[in-house]
Amino acid sequence: MKSANAITKAERILGGLWGALCGDALGVPVEFRGRTSVQADPVTGMRGYGTHGQPAGTWSDDSSLLLCTAESLVAEEFSVEDLGERFVRWQREGYWTPHGTVFDIGMATSRALRRVAGGTPAVEAGGMGEYDNGNGSLMRVLPVCLRFAGARTERLVQSVGDASRVTHGHRRSVMACVFYAFLVRALLDGAGREEAVDAARRDFGIEYGESCGGQGEAFGRLLGGGFAGLVESEIRSSGYVIDTLEAAVWCLLKGEGFAETVLRAVNLGEDTDTTGCVAGGLAGVFYGLGAVPGEWREVLARAGEAGVLFARLAAECSGEPAGAEFILE
Ligand SMILES: [Mg+2]
Repeated sequence: MKSANAITKAERILGGLWGALCGDALGVPVEFRGRTSVQADPVTGMRGYGTHGQPAGTWSDDSSLLLCTAESLVAEEFSVEDLGERFVRWQREGYWTPHGTVFDIGMATSRALRRVAGGTPAVEAGGMGEYDNGNGSLMRVLPVCLRFAGARTERLVQSVGDASRVTHGHRRSVMACVFYAFLVRALLDGAGREEAVDAARRDFGIEYGESCGGQGEAFGRLLGGGFAGLVESEIRSSGYVIDTLEAAVWCLLKGEGFAETVLRAVNLGEDTDTTGCVAGGLAGVFYGLGAVPGEWREVLARAGEAGVLFARLAAECSGEPAGAEFILE
């Protein structure tokens, strides 16, 4: 492993983006399977078929929407309407799907995108109810976190929040994306894992104050001192946004290297693809592109196109050239 200072910002950005796609694709074949079942035959690399009957390297809605977001950021400065339009194209036309069709879509996302298609402003389309707090915005927000990590905090919070609101408008979902953004920002700056989580907690506290925006109960465990000491049986891996955020942060803290961190996340079971995707984003930013196994990236669907897009976004976000060596043909 390269020392922290030897990893460039572009390598961290690319590591995060590829890491998210790999985590998603590793989880797809075992999605919905319980922990005991997954751990009886743990995922150790890219495998085909299983839950959705897809070939190895097939990523899901998480990566489709993440790729739509990355593309929007390259095409536009930041436009929630453009994000909404691309998401609707995905839902209706299979845009940025691995093999041309949508095989997996969350209910909150589906409802919100129907509202966008029906003319609701994208920033108001996401559900605002207590039960609209699935992980469907957290799973796709990484490109926005990366794009605005170097901006003023106000801009980062606003952009990440608005990106969430297209499908997930409840304060808890928005705040989960903001916590993730603060953590990504610290990791991108080269912080150690514990240090980065502490920085995210501090920034989150400044942003939402003592009252934690009325969400203290939901975020209490993540913000509390005992979090790093939790054992696996205390970590949930459902599709609830808080479970996914906690699981991803816990895997980052407990993992040993990129691959082990992402496999640890996937092998928690249940919402394996999204837990893998969210953890893979964090681990990729921390360990850098060089730590993401080449044999995983190579089997990903549409790896060549994703690589071109990621290199453009990384160059834009980092101000460093992300040259041809990063693009898989
Ligand atoms: Mg998925």
